Amino acid sequence: MKKEAPVAETDAMKCRSCGAIERASEGYPCKGCGTFICVLCNLRGKIFCKECVAKGSVAETPAT
Ligand SMILES: [Zn+2]
Ligand SMILES: [Zn+2]
Repeated sequence: MKKEAPVAETDAMKCRSCGAIERASEGYPCKGCGTFICVLCNLRGKIFCKECVAKGSVAETPAT
């Protein structure tokens, strides 16, 4: 029997803000395009992905 890598069974996705591989179920969608943003970025106020920030139409961090 062939043994598969355990990581393949998770819902891992690549965060489009920091590039980290995190679980999709623990992350959030980008407010601009809906792509995956990890929970750590969300906690830091990064609610947009890199591409949306690069477009210049959104602020990287919300006003505090
Ligand atoms: Zn991230
Ligand atoms: Zn986006």
